[in-house]
Amino acid sequence: MLVVGLTGGIASGKSTTANYLKELGFVILDADQYARDAVKPGTAGWQEIMEVFGPEYFHPNGELNRGKLGQLIFQDAAARKRLNEIVHPKVIAMIEQGIQTAEQQGEALVFVDVPLLYEIGLDKRMDTVIVVSVDPEIQLQRLQQRDSLSREEAQRRVDSQMPLALKVQQAEYVVDNSGSIEETRSQVKKIVDKLLARSAVDMDKMRKNGSQGNSPLELKRDIGKPDRKWRVALIAHDEKKPAMLKLAGGFKEILSRFDLVATGTTGKILREEVGLEIKRMQSGPYGGDQQIGAMVADDEVDLVIFLRDPLTAQPHEPDITALLRVCDVHNVPLATNEATAAMLLLAFGELDREND
Ligand code: PGA
Repeated sequence: MLVVGLTGGIASGKSTTANYLKELGFVILDADQYARDAVKPGTAGWQEIMEVFGPEYFHPNGELNRGKLGQLIFQDAAARKRLNEIVHPKVIAMIEQGIQTAEQQGEALVFVDVPLLYEIGLDKRMDTVIVVSVDPEIQLQRLQQRDSLSREEAQRRVDSQMPLALKVQQAEYVVDNSGSIEETRSQVKKIVDKLLARSAVDMDKMRKNGSQGNSPLELKRDIGKPDRKWRVALIAHDEKKPAMLKLAGGFKEILSRFDLVATGTTGKILREEVGLEIKRMQSGPYGGDQQIGAMVADDEVDLVIFLRDPLTAQPHEPDITALLRVCDVHNVPLATNEATAAMLLLAFGELDREND
């Protein structure tokens, strides 16, 4: 199961996204709701707040006076810290409980909706994060309308938060909610499909089977303890270079966590068009494939993606089969088409995450 953080900025459309995910039938753990539950009359949280802040922060019926406490903590950093120390651990415990229940129910994904995911460092607990983002001007307009605020007031609220752009930078998946609801939904659907594909790569099961010696997955190295970053070699024949660009663009986040090596021209376009840091060997027809083959033989490469053009004669045929052969000799994962490459990159991304 993948644990997916969902966050955003004020009025950025996180709730729209969460509601849609609910509609699709996924489990959403709602940190705001947990925070309310954590201070319900009679709970330990309620009791502690009473002791620390006093009865003047409660309504006559015993409910917490959120407005009054909100004003206090907005101005008083120490009070805010104290309140967080009471509430956050309880919310986190409820999230953990929710994750556990979802796991037991056999969910493929569980979404954890936390407005302050990055601010309180909960992003590190997630397998991946979706940030719902919006154009700043649209955000201001929507916030003004939603909460009947002046432009200045709305701006002040936006400014009091961690900049949305900073969250976008850190997130693996971003939903841009500046357009219509349909556009937002279609982006969410695409991300969900990717996440489902990822969760289908069940590493725990593979590892368990592997350790019992009955798995078809035999990895070269102990996947629990890499002694260096994964190293991936990328090669594409000319007709396959557009496919390579598309693949690398789609998996940029995963690829940029690895050491990359490529044949000359492939490396050049990946660097220039996708912005990947990459070591370039000679061009394929000049021996680049064989340089990479030598690295495979020396146990310096963990995955080879060699997008071959099966329909056009290559100047360095039949030499290129030497690289395929050496991968087989050393049992190094090898993809010769986009579909296999995508599956292997998903798997390696997952292994890498587990080894973090
Ligand atoms: P190139 O080589 O990346 O330099 O084009 C690839 C190949 O044809 O083997």
